[in-house]
Amino acid sequence: PRLANQIAAGEVVERPASVIKELLENSLDAGARRVDIEVEQAGVKLLRVRDDGSGIVEGDLPLALSRHATSKIQQLDDLERVNTLGFRGEALASVSSVSRLTLTSCAAGADQGWQVETEGRDMEPRLQPAAHPQGTTVEVRDLFFNTPARRKFLRTEKTEFSHLEEVVKRLALSRFDVAFSLRHNGRPVFNLRPAQTEQEARRRVATVCGPAFVEQSVTLDVERGGLRLWGWVGLPTFSRSQADLQYFFVNGRMIKDKLVAHAVRQAYRDVLFHGRHPTFVLFMELDPGVVDVNVHPTKHEVRFRDGRMVHDFLFSSLHRALADQRPGDTTQ
Ligand code: ADP
Ligand code: MG
Repeated sequence: PRLANQIAAGEVVERPASVIKELLENSLDAGARRVDIEVEQAGVKLLRVRDDGSGIVEGDLPLALSRHATSKIQQLDDLERVNTLGFRGEALASVSSVSRLTLTSCAAGADQGWQVETEGRDMEPRLQPAAHPQGTTVEVRDLFFNTPARRKFLRTEKTEFSHLEEVVKRLALSRFDVAFSLRHNGRPVFNLRPAQTEQEARRRVATVCGPAFVEQSVTLDVERGGLRLWGWVGLPTFSRSQADLQYFFVNGRMIKDKLVAHAVRQAYRDVLFHGRHPTFVLFMELDPGVVDVNVHPTKHEVRFRDGRMVHDFLFSSLHRALADQRPGDTTQ
């Protein structure tokens, strides 16, 4: 089974960024209010995620590392309405098959913590007591130490870290209510306190996307026909070399979608922002019944039941927000 895990690991675990994504999603699924991330050498040497979530009971610890063991789905029916980020029960098994992994946890109400350790695919998990406050710490060391072929595909530390940081940023933008800290090679990268007010949310966006973005953007909050769109859209004065400041969340999940991209581009073009890359941090909320966000485990795709209506809503909301802000515009 461990060999199968290693093969499956290729699908989920491509680089340190994919590991951090899985670990953070687990922390959020466990209801964490605070997540602390410590990384060394872009996560190749060490990736440590500590949360204050519900924790894992002793008996479930070894299970958490086995394939297709998930606590998040009890019956097949549940698949229809998953509201957790993970549900396939593959991530920890896959990561543990290509690293030295330690999982330490103390469940809510338990009188002590427990730890399991694995080292690649040759070892069965070892269970022992360990001191830990309520919550979970996953420590992943020496990623790909036993799969040199995959290790060879890793890029420079700088590149790998920027991928990893991007994942943390996305999740930090998806959950304003959760505190996140990130340290790399012993240095703090950011420390985000929970954001309850609009002011605090704005501060988080400024930290994650840079203060220039929030200063040179329009805010909007539109609700119509069961759809809500809110967030920040960059004005043309905000220019950025990379076209990567594009965050779109549907019901709290970051997605990349052709229909969404098209609607945004069209709104930009219509307001005469020719040649500008749209920049945005936008949140759309709608009835979960009319959107499928579980189309693919790693791609950020969605399927809207009524794509045309969503497109029209996005286009008209953005168009209005941008047109209202255009300097010298008097038509509104
Ligand atoms: P999935 O998230 O798809 O269920 P994973 O392999 O990511 O599968 O995790 C396996 C199981 O381990 C989860 O279902 C959960 O019960 C437990 N688990 C993993 N990480 C945490 C965490 N940080 N806090 C609490 N439980 C966790
Ligand atoms: Mg998971």
